[in-house]
Amino acid sequence: MKTLIIRYEGKDSLIPAAEIIKNGGIVAFPTETVYGLGGNALDPSAASKIYAAKGRPSDNPLIVHLHKYENAGVYAHTTPLFFEIADAFMPGPITVILKKRSFIPDSVTGGLDTVGLRVPSNHIARELIELSGVPIAAPSANISGKPSPTSFDHVYHDLNGKVDAIIDGGSCDFGVESTIVKLEDKTIQLLRPGAVTVEMLSLFGDGLYVDPAVTEKFDGTPLAPGMKYRHYAPSTPLTVLDGSDKEVYSYLSDREDVGVICFDEDLPHINNAYVISCGSVSDTLTQAKMLFECLRKMDGRTDLKHIYARMPSKIGIGLAVFNRLIKAAGFSVVTLK
Ligand code: AMP
Ligand code: MG
Repeated sequence: MKTLIIRYEGKDSLIPAAEIIKNGGIVAFPTETVYGLGGNALDPSAASKIYAAKGRPSDNPLIVHLHKYENAGVYAHTTPLFFEIADAFMPGPITVILKKRSFIPDSVTGGLDTVGLRVPSNHIARELIELSGVPIAAPSANISGKPSPTSFDHVYHDLNGKVDAIIDGGSCDFGVESTIVKLEDKTIQLLRPGAVTVEMLSLFGDGLYVDPAVTEKFDGTPLAPGMKYRHYAPSTPLTVLDGSDKEVYSYLSDREDVGVICFDEDLPHINNAYVISCGSVSDTLTQAKMLFECLRKMDGRTDLKHIYARMPSKIGIGLAVFNRLIKAAGFSVVTLK
């Protein structure tokens, strides 16, 4: 398949992409979280094309992207808590799971009776949804299991030749996928941490429940089907190191052919490895933005036997960085205490 590459130059430059979506095709587009791979959410055959291009298991549902949350009731059974959360955080990096209306195709929701709704704030994503005139179903625009794409180059690497078009809209602001919450009556269940943080959400509803799968390996039936699949993984084995500066430097000192994802402050202290920083130790926003780029850079090196990463803080968006990192590592964590 020949993939049309669209460099964003104002709203009109998106008309060919909107035409593709209207005609049942699939388009990769930037959002404020990561790039998405989208198609008409009301067209089951567009959903099939998304699953095929990504190699995604068909029981892992897609998120439905809307232009306005005021339209959410058309697609799902909304509640007062939904509108409180939507007023506070939409448009923005959050997906809310609600009971779906019956006309949403099963292929979009992986056969579930719920649908994940998101209203992105990125202006290119918003213009594309508006021009297409339909809700856009989209997971991240990467090959299933690999780190999510946070730049045009990442999407091009994974999907050129497999999708109808890719929109080049620069790099993503947050770099980790949307926060996912499921609402039941007045309680909020956090299924995936993101830039809308636990601290922000705890001001809403009657209680916030963090799903155990967010912070640890979970073998039961997950609430978000995506939780059971291996995610974000580089090809080289990855281990997260949990310890003080001294303990980490000493652990790494006699290792050969390793890559290390660390913080800016560590750079002068690790000399025998291929080292990349994902930001300053306290700058969790930059760490989120850089994490998938770091994992992809490490994957580009064929000379590394093992990759190590330092344990991030779990505060604020740090919880999302921690969650993606332990999943990328297949829960391989060495505690150096
Ligand atoms: P991605 O952004 O690529 O990770 O894909 C969308 C994510 O949203 C996956 O982790 C899905 O499991 C999750 N998701 C989408 N719709 C639902 C839903 N109705 N219930 C639970 N999780 C969902
Ligand atoms: Mg994904």
